[in-house]
Amino acid sequence: MKSFPKDTIKPEECSTLSSNETLLMIPGPTNLPDPVREALSQPSIYHRGDQFAQLLEVCSEGLKPLFGTENEVLILTSSSTGAMEAGIVNFLSPGDRVIAINTGKFGERLGDIATAFGAEVSWLTVEPGRVATPMVLDALADEVKPQAVLLVQNETSTGVCQDVGALAQVANDHGALVIVDAVSSLGGIPFEMDKWSVDVVMAGSQKALMLPPGLGFVAASPRAWQAAQSAQMPRYYFDLRAASQSAGKGQTPYTPNINMIVALAEVVALIQAEGLPNVYRRHHQMGEATRAAVQALGLRLFADPEYASDVVTAIQSPDELDSTQLVKQIRDKHNILISGGQGELKGKIFRIGHLGCAGIREIRRTIKALAESLLDLGYQCSLDAALEAIEEIVANT
Ligand code: PLP
Repeated sequence: MKSFPKDTIKPEECSTLSSNETLLMIPGPTNLPDPVREALSQPSIYHRGDQFAQLLEVCSEGLKPLFGTENEVLILTSSSTGAMEAGIVNFLSPGDRVIAINTGKFGERLGDIATAFGAEVSWLTVEPGRVATPMVLDALADEVKPQAVLLVQNETSTGVCQDVGALAQVANDHGALVIVDAVSSLGGIPFEMDKWSVDVVMAGSQKALMLPPGLGFVAASPRAWQAAQSAQMPRYYFDLRAASQSAGKGQTPYTPNINMIVALAEVVALIQAEGLPNVYRRHHQMGEATRAAVQALGLRLFADPEYASDVVTAIQSPDELDSTQLVKQIRDKHNILISGGQGELKGKIFRIGHLGCAGIREIRRTIKALAESLLDLGYQCSLDAALEAIEEIVANT
C-alpha cells in the first residue's frame, strides 16, 4: 500500500492522477489516492460478518483523533447533508429556540434543516467572507436564550474558517448545545471536539478524507446523548440511537456502503502514516501558498485574511471578468476544475479547493493554469511572481 512518509511534507507522494484525468481543485469531491481506488474495486464483503465489524472499528477509532474526541464516531451511509440532519433531529425538539450562524450557503443549510423540523430559528447572519464574533453571539444568546447554537467550522461557499472554540465557549456559557458542521474541514483543519466542549460534530467523506461522496459522520458528547433521550424531532433512517446500538455490535442498522467503509480504512491508514500534524501542516502550506500566489497575481482575496481557510481559497474576480468564464477556461484548456461562486456570489468570485489528496505540486499547476487563463482573457499578471511567492512559502513553512 502506498503511504505518506512520516514527519515530512511530501504530498507529491499522494497524488496519483494519470495525465488525462481532470485535476479536482474544487472544495470536494477531491482526488482519490490509489489505495482508495483499489479498495473501492474490491468484491463486497458481508456487512454482518466479523471482517466488516473489524473494519468498522478501525474506521470509527481511526476517525476519533480527527474529531479530537473520545466520543464514539458514527458512520452513516448518506451525503454530508444527511449527517447534518442527523446532528440536528436527534438532539432537538420542535419549538426549541436555536441560533443558526449564517456564514453562507452551509450555515444557512443548518438553520434551514432546523426550521424544517420545527425549531424556532434566530439567524445570526454575517457578511459573506466574514465570521461570527463571540461578542455578537453572546448578545444574541442573551436575547434568545437558545437551546442550541448551529455553526459551520469551514464555510465552503466563502472560504472562511470560524473560531469554533471561542464560539462554543459562548454557547456553553448560555447552556446551549453546540452543533458544528465540520464537513469541509475535518481531516484538513484541526478540530478539538472535547477540548472545545462541542456537543455534536458532523462531517462527510468527499472532502479532506479523500473518498467519493456517500458517507456521513457524526460524533456526539455525553451531554448531547442525554438531550437525545427527550428530543422529539421525528427521525427514522437517521436515528443515531439505532446507529450507536448497532455500532456496539460492529454493525450498522441498515445495509451500509460497504466498499466505501473498506476504502475509509485505507484513508485512516494513509492519515496515520503521514501523521495528523503533518496532514494539517500540508493543508496550511497549501492555503498559505495559494493565498500568496493569487495576491502576487494582483488578485484580491474574498475572505477576511484573519479567518482565511486552509482548505479553500475564495478569490474576487477582476472587475471586468465573470468568474464563470475563468473557471471554464481553466477547465477546457488545462483540465483543472476549480469552483465559481454560489448564489449571489456567482460570477463574482472563484474558489480553489486545496484539500485531501493534493499538495504544493497541484498548487503550482493550478496557479500556472490560472495565470495563463487570466492572460488569455485579457487580464495582465505575472506567473513568475506567483511561482516565486509559492516557493517562498515552501521555504518557510
Ligand atoms: N457542509 C459544508 C461545509 C459543505 O462544504 C458541504 C458540501 O460542499 C455540505 C455541508 C454538504 O455536503 P453534501 O453535498 O455531501 O451533502
